[in-house]
Amino acid sequence: GLNVNRPVEDGSVDITSSLDHVDRIAGYHRIDRYGIAAFASTSRQQLQKKWLQYVAISGLLLLALIFILGFLTLRILRNQSAMHDQQKQLVILASIDGLTGLYNRRYGLNRLTEEFKRARRYQYPLSLFMVDIDYFKKVNDSYGHAAGDVALKAVTDILRTTCREQDIISRYGGEEFLVMLPETALDEAVRLAERLRKTIEQASIRLGSTDLKMTISIGVASCDLGSDNENDQTTSIQQADRALYRAKEEGRNRVCVSE
Ligand code: GH3
Ligand code: MG
Ligand code: MG
Repeated sequence: GLNVNRPVEDGSVDITSSLDHVDRIAGYHRIDRYGIAAFASTSRQQLQKKWLQYVAISGLLLLALIFILGFLTLRILRNQSAMHDQQKQLVILASIDGLTGLYNRRYGLNRLTEEFKRARRYQYPLSLFMVDIDYFKKVNDSYGHAAGDVALKAVTDILRTTCREQDIISRYGGEEFLVMLPETALDEAVRLAERLRKTIEQASIRLGSTDLKMTISIGVASCDLGSDNENDQTTSIQQADRALYRAKEEGRNRVCVSE
C-alpha cells in the first residue's frame, strides 16, 4: 500500500505484510539526486516492546529519584530537629552555673526583669533576698578549695529544698545567691529567709571525716512595683545588698530587712 511516486520527500505508513501478516511501521525518504527512496520498516510489536522498556526504565528511574529525594528530605528534617534540640540544650547550658546547677547571675538578672514585668501586670507582690555564706574563706583555707566546693554544693542543696517551687535561685557570685520570690510580700519573704538561715545553721556538712558547721547572712528587700522605672530591679538588688551588709556588720548568721 505504498506509493513512492507521490511528490512527497519523506513520511511513514502502516503496512501489513501479505507474506508473514506482521503489522509494521515503515518510514521512507526520497533521495531525488539518485532517483531512489530509502525505506525501512520495523514490526509494531517490536516497537511497542522497545517503548514499554523505555517507559519501564524511566518509571524506575523516577521512582528511584523520588525515593532519594524523600530520603534526603527526611534526613534534613531529622538534622534540623537535632539542631533545634542542641540549640535548646545550649540555651539551658548558658543559663546554668556549672558547679551548683543553679541559674547563673546573667539568667538571674534577666529573670528578675521578667518577674518585675509579671508582678506589675498581675498586681502581685515580689520580694527578693541576697544570701552570702559566712566566713567561707576560712572553709577554703582550712580544708582546701575542693572541700570548699563540696560545702558550697551542700549549702546549695539546702537552699533548693528549703525554698518553694516558685522561688528562683541563682548563683549571684562566688558564695552569694540571689533568690526571687514571686507573689510574696516582705513579711513572708523574711519568714522564709529566717527558716533558711536556721536550716543551714542546724545542718552539718560532711567533709571527709569532719562535720562542718556553716552559717549564712541574708538581706531581704521587697520590690517597688508602683512606678514603671527601669532602674527598680537594680534598686531592689542594692537594697537587699545593703541589708546583707548590715547583717554581716551586726555579727553574721542573721536576716536583715531593707528599710
Ligand atoms: P563573709 O562572712 O564576710 O562573707 O566572709 P567570707 O570569707 O565568706 O567572704 P569573702 O567574700 O571575703 O570570701 C568569699 C570566699 O569564697 C572567697 C573565695 O575563695 C570563696 N569562693 C568563691 N567562689 C568559690 C567556689 O566556687 N569554690 C570555692 N571553693 N570557694 C569559692
Ligand atoms: Mg561570704
Ligand atoms: Mg561574698
